Amino acid sequence: MSRVIAIDGPSASGKSTVARRVAAELGRLYVDSGALYRAVTWRAMEHGVEEGDIEGVIKSLHEMEVLFRVDAGAVCFTVDGRDPGLALRTETLNRRVSEVAATPAVRDQVVAWLRDMLPFGGLVMEGRDIGSVVFPDAEKKIFLDADPEERARRRHAEYEGRDEASTIGNVQSSLTLRDLKDTQRKMAPLVVAEGAEILDTTSRGIDAVVEAILASVRG
Ligand code: C5P
Repeated sequence: MSRVIAIDGPSASGKSTVARRVAAELGRLYVDSGALYRAVTWRAMEHGVEEGDIEGVIKSLHEMEVLFRVDAGAVCFTVDGRDPGLALRTETLNRRVSEVAATPAVRDQVVAWLRDMLPFGGLVMEGRDIGSVVFPDAEKKIFLDADPEERARRRHAEYEGRDEASTIGNVQSSLTLRDLKDTQRKMAPLVVAEGAEILDTTSRGIDAVVEAILASVRG
């Protein structure tokens, strides 16, 4: 059994907030697996790879240097010596990441990076396929969900204070499109992993969900 708590679910279901808090409570390291798919996408975009150019993405993937380190309770990384930070969270990147994440060579590399993190210590890892593919032997598997309207409202609130103009309506259509692509792709689609506990965060609130996971982990 791997020392991993897997937290999977669709976009803006509350995974990041919940996973960070569970990791902090348990003294474990938080891992955002989606950030690595975003990093591969960002690096390709920075090198002028056009949408739909999968070969260009794979070439960029082979050239990129990703270095991992532990910082403030999380496993962090640099790409070619740079910290991409908020550049990973733009709407342009949101529109392109699912195509990149559906590419088998990209998934193989990201899964290898994620598995290589085990020596850092006990992990709380969030994503789409952590319990189903990356760590099917995780000690605990959680699937978080929430209504699409609530997820769009949360993601929109995150964008406030940043430069990007967005409305709840266009955030919701972008999320719905990304969920559709993530659920329908051939390799490692978003599914509820065998043995996962399903928690709905629509009306339960983040505190209650964190408490429920901690209670379940502590048995
Ligand atoms: O979690 P986040 O929204 O940042 O993930 C960005 C994208 O990365 C997702 O839409 C999905 O296409 C991909 N992803 C994935 N498998 C994971 C985590 C993310 O395919 N474990």
